[in-house]
Amino acid sequence: MSMIEPSLIQAIHTHNHILCISHVNPDGDAYGSLLGMGWILHHLGKQVVLAMHDQTSKEFQLLPGAHQIIAPNAVADHYDLIVFLDASSRDRVGSVYQENRHQGIPVAVIDHHVTNTYFGDINWVRPDCAATCQMLVYLADALQVPLTGALAECLLTGIVTDTLCFRTSNTTAEVLEAAMHLIRGGADLATITQRTLNQRSLGVLKLWGMVLSELHFEEGVIWALISREQLKTAGDLSGDGQLSSMLITALEADISATFTEKIDEKGLSAVECSFRAKPGFNVATVALELGGGGHPAASGCTLPGTLAEVTTKVLPALKQVRAIYANQ
Ligand code: 5GP
Ligand code: MN
Repeated sequence: MSMIEPSLIQAIHTHNHILCISHVNPDGDAYGSLLGMGWILHHLGKQVVLAMHDQTSKEFQLLPGAHQIIAPNAVADHYDLIVFLDASSRDRVGSVYQENRHQGIPVAVIDHHVTNTYFGDINWVRPDCAATCQMLVYLADALQVPLTGALAECLLTGIVTDTLCFRTSNTTAEVLEAAMHLIRGGADLATITQRTLNQRSLGVLKLWGMVLSELHFEEGVIWALISREQLKTAGDLSGDGQLSSMLITALEADISATFTEKIDEKGLSAVECSFRAKPGFNVATVALELGGGGHPAASGCTLPGTLAEVTTKVLPALKQVRAIYANQ
């Protein structure tokens, strides 16, 4: 079984009142790892608080424990330990962590992003793992917490969503082995896949129809633009990560991108950028340089400005990085 950061095990054993948080725009691995950590700590008899910046989206409300996630304004300031899950940098968790209120509380980071900034007092970062939930399989095992029931369901959700159901190039034998443990523990692969990957709203499908009819392709890079007006069609749920994953299936493309125009918290125009790369290409560094992060095959960032302003900046960077890998 894989190496666990010993100081993390020690911190878990010595602290009792623990706040767990995960990243903004949460995906299945964010929910799975947050709730999974909650179930692990609960099993150990700890007092656990789970918090997220965003409200729980529909497809994850049925995950066991999801209703216990609290909003930023309910977060207190007197925890013994704060655990960041699936977050590559401190700013990724939004307003649930507040520097001035939480200063002095030890921070443990559990994450699998290659772009992790090692911002904690304890950093357990494993870019060889396909999901933070995979790491929690090893952690639960080390802590002798049984991988069954609610815990197994949460952890399999993160592994399934981050690997697009075992299809991404980082799906190793170890990933399958971890998933096998969870399925043996009672997690239902078919139900999890159905809830997370196999369904989307009619609005999202109509939105995709609109933007797919106006696709752009240049120099091995395929991209789609989603304006704020178009986003309204989908009811503010664009599934932009899933759209980029679909775009990268284009035979002609090595890199895909989706640019979604939003209004940021200050009321200004901002664009969410979601990138995907074929095996052998890498979009992690370009996202990191733009202030975001992610994995070699899937990364993202959010930049201020209009669609036109942001694409003028980002597309040359994507084309450049595509050319570097194409010439290798
Ligand atoms: P998606 O395209 O599915 O939204 O995100 C793909 C990957 O990039 C995920 O692992 C996600 O955590 C990461 N990512 C997306 N946006 C950002 C961002 O703004 N900052 C950082 N650090 N990572 C991001
Ligand atoms: Mn993840």
